[in-house]
Amino acid sequence: MNVFKTVELLQKNLLSIGENNSLGFVPTMGALHEGHLSIVKKAKKDNDFVVASIFVNPTQFDKADDLKSYPKTIDNDLKLLKEVQCDFVFIPGVEDVYPENVQSNDFDFEGLDKVMEGAFRTGHFDGVGTVVKRLFEIVNPTRAYFGEKDFQQLQIIKKMVEKNKITVQIVPCEIYREKDGLAMSSRNTRLNEEQRKEAPLIQQTLLKCKKLFPEKDISFIEKMVLSTFKTNKILELEYFEIADSETLLSAKDKSPNVKYRAFIAVFAEKVRLIDNIALN
Ligand code: AMP
Repeated sequence: MNVFKTVELLQKNLLSIGENNSLGFVPTMGALHEGHLSIVKKAKKDNDFVVASIFVNPTQFDKADDLKSYPKTIDNDLKLLKEVQCDFVFIPGVEDVYPENVQSNDFDFEGLDKVMEGAFRTGHFDGVGTVVKRLFEIVNPTRAYFGEKDFQQLQIIKKMVEKNKITVQIVPCEIYREKDGLAMSSRNTRLNEEQRKEAPLIQQTLLKCKKLFPEKDISFIEKMVLSTFKTNKILELEYFEIADSETLLSAKDKSPNVKYRAFIAVFAEKVRLIDNIALN
């Protein structure tokens, strides 16, 4: 496994893989867990070579505190990536990704960024769009892999690729979970014992939504979710939405031929956890 810290060195070495070989790309912010590794394994199966990147992107954080406390475990990350036989790791500095100024570009995501994560985290998706576009320019991958845990991010990246006519295939990856159902996240390590014990309620609630969805209307399901968290002393609901999976627009009624998904964001004190589920 080769580790590169500058654009120049990475690009020089990527030239050696040859034009006819495919390159899979797995962008991450580090603090790697089994969810990230499952993506690298999938990318290994689909491609001749795989690059993973580790970069905590400052422009996608709306709170300085959250950026500062984002977990960093670089030695362990490299050990894990080696175990899954990742070929290349790119660990750029801020100056490699933002050679001029550390600022996001403005994107038109056709409204996909105005709801849920975008509504609650100002500027988040412009930051994500900026870093992913830049990383695509540097790496020039055949395929790039994104987790459905960040489903809104996945849809936004697909839109960015389509609008900018970038020649990369975006591959969605299923949500990888702990045994008790909690979606794996780098932020889970910040939960205390009590919060960690309570956190599986997030997926349990989503599973209940999925069960109710064929028979109950959307407002009934929303009320159930609201009352579940209202009485909970450890998890505080930030938002719950049932939305069209393609447009991400909030749904009030069900239409035939539309795929719906439920989305949730919850705080355990300062730790923010998100999850989602396909409903039909
Ligand atoms: P992050 O390091 O949190 O930016 O995540 C890097 C990539 O891994 C993103 O595409 C995430 O959606 C994906 N990812 C993170 N956690 C999970 C998970 N539990 N299951 C599937 N994909 C995940």
